[in-house]
Amino acid sequence: MSSAPVPTESTISGDSEEANAFADLGLRAELLGALAALGYEEPTPIQREAIPPLLAGRDLLGQAATGTGKTAAFALPLLQRMATGGSNAGPVALVLVPTRELAVQVSEAFHRYGKDLGTRVLPIYGGQPIGRQLRALDLGVDVVVATPGRALDHIARGTLRLGGLATVVLDEADEMLDMGFAEDIEAILEHAPAQRQTVLFSATMPSRIDGMARQHLTDPVRIQIGRQQPMAGEAPLVRQSAYLVARAHKPAALGRVLDVESPTAAIVFCRSREEVDRLTETMNGRGYRAEALHGGMSQEQRDRVMGRLRAGTADLLVATDVAARGLDVEQLTHVVNYDVPSAPESYVHRIGRVGRAGREGVAITLAEPREHRMLKTIERVTGQRIVIDKIPTAADLRTRRLELTQAALRESLLEDDLDPFRVIVESLSDEFDLMEVALAAVKLAHEAASPGSDEDQEEIPQVAVRPQRESRSGGDPRGGDRRGSRARSGGATTQVFIGLGRRAGVRPQDLVGAITGETGINGRDIGSIEIADRFSLVEVPNAVADEVIAGLRGSTIKGRKTTVRRDRGAETR
Ligand code: AMP
Repeated sequence: MSSAPVPTESTISGDSEEANAFADLGLRAELLGALAALGYEEPTPIQREAIPPLLAGRDLLGQAATGTGKTAAFALPLLQRMATGGSNAGPVALVLVPTRELAVQVSEAFHRYGKDLGTRVLPIYGGQPIGRQLRALDLGVDVVVATPGRALDHIARGTLRLGGLATVVLDEADEMLDMGFAEDIEAILEHAPAQRQTVLFSATMPSRIDGMARQHLTDPVRIQIGRQQPMAGEAPLVRQSAYLVARAHKPAALGRVLDVESPTAAIVFCRSREEVDRLTETMNGRGYRAEALHGGMSQEQRDRVMGRLRAGTADLLVATDVAARGLDVEQLTHVVNYDVPSAPESYVHRIGRVGRAGREGVAITLAEPREHRMLKTIERVTGQRIVIDKIPTAADLRTRRLELTQAALRESLLEDDLDPFRVIVESLSDEFDLMEVALAAVKLAHEAASPGSDEDQEEIPQVAVRPQRESRSGGDPRGGDRRGSRARSGGATTQVFIGLGRRAGVRPQDLVGAITGETGINGRDIGSIEIADRFSLVEVPNAVADEVIAGLRGSTIKGRKTTVRRDRGAETR
C-alpha cells in the first residue's frame, strides 16, 4: 500500500438533490418508505423513464434486460395506481413471466415494495400444488404473477377472473415467445378487459415482439435501455473482466479476486446502502481495511473516509454510485462492480475512475448468471470486450502469494540494508546448511506477509453461463469463448429440478457435493445452479442426467429427502 499523502483538489459532490429522486417521479410516501428501507438511493434509467408514463396510465413498450431495474419500473407505478382503487372482484394486475423462478422473484419484489400498502400478491406457476393457489385466489389477491400456462389453467377453471384487470404486464416477452407461449398469451389477453393498461418488456425486439406490441398496445411509450450511442473515448484503457458467481458466494469471490489482484486502492460499487454496510462489515471480518461510503453519511464523515483511502490506511472503499459521484482518487487501481450496473452508462462512468492519465486500471464485475445478458449489452454499448474469468482457486491464491513473497525478497536483496542481519546467518550457518537457513527465513517472511485463513482453503463454485439466445439479435460481433460453461461445451444439457431451495438452507456447494458424492460425475461437469426459495435447478450434461437423478433420489440434501426430477422447462401442467 502506498502511504505517500497525495494532495487532491476534488472531493465528493453533495447529493442532497438526489434524496428525493424517487419522489420527483411522483411516487407516494408508502412506496418511498419501502425504497428507502431497501436502500435504493436513486432510480435507474429505466425507472426514471418508465415510472411517470406508467403512473399516468400509458401503455409502454420497453427494451431492457434483467439487471436494469425493470421490475421496480413496472411494479412501483402498478402498486401506486392500485392503492387508490381496491376491490374484491379479482386481481387488478396480472404479470405474465416465462419461468416460475421469475414468477417467484417478481412477486417477492411486489411484496417488498408494496408492504406498507398491504397489497396482496400471488405467484402462480406450474409444478406448485394447485390447491394452495385456489385457496389464495379465493381469499382475494390484487396482483397475480403467473406463467402463461398455469394462468390459462386457472382461467379455464374459472378460478382466475380477469374482468377487474386494470393492467397487464408481459415481462421478458421474447423469452415467453421462445418458450412457445404465444398462443397462451393471446388467449389470456382475450379474457382481459379491452380498456386496460398493457406493458411489455423484452430484452430483444425481434419482429414478432413488434407485431405483438402493435396488436395489443395502444399508442405505447417506447423506452430502450442499453442501446444508446457508444460513449466513445470515455472508456479508458482498462483491463475488464467479469466473474460469474452465485449471490451467496460473492463475498468469498470478492475476497479471492482481491487477494490475487492485490490492488493499491480499490472501490467496490454496490446497488444499495444496505449492501454497502453489509459488505463493508463482511470484508472487514475477512481482514481487509474496508470503509463504507454512502449517501446517508455527512460530508465530514465522507471526507474522513476519503482521507484514509488516500493515506493508504484503508484499502477498500465500498460505495453506492450516488456517494461516489465526483470522487477522484489518484491511487485507485481497481474498480469492482459487486453487481452488474443497471445501465451501460453507469458501467462506463464507474470504470472511468481508473486508468486515468495513462495509469493502469482494472475493472472487475461480479455477475450472477442471470445478469449475463446485461454484460453482453454493456459490451455492445462500449464496444469493448469483458472477459469472463474463472474465480481464482485456493491453489491460484497460494501461487500468487508465493510470487508476492518472492518479489518482496528480490526487492529486499537489491536494497543495501541487510548487514544488521549478517550475524544471524553466520551463526546459523555453523549449524545448518545455507539453503536451509534461507528456506526458514523465506517461510517466516511469507507467513508474516500473508497470514492464511480458513477462507483461503474454501473452493468457490464456478457457475456456468445460461444458454444464450443472443444470435437472434445479431450476437456479439467480438465472439469469444465463455469460460465457465463447461457443462454445455460437451453437448446438450438437462435441468434437474430439486424440491429444496433457499428456505431449506440449500447452497450451491450442497448440491455439487451431493451430486459428486452420489455419482461418478465431476464437479466441473455441473453447469449453472439456481437456487430459488423452495426449489433448485441444476444443469447437467444430458448423458449423465439419469445418473444424477437416481443418485440424488437415493440420498439426502441437508438431511432431507426430496423430489428430484427432470425439469420440464418453465411449465409443468
Ligand atoms: P431487475 O432488473 O428488475 O431484475 O433488478 C435488478 C436488481 O436491482 C434487483 O436486485 C433490484 O432489487 C435492484 N434494484 C432495482 N432498482 C434499484 C435502485 N433504484 N437502486 C438500487 N437497486 C435497485
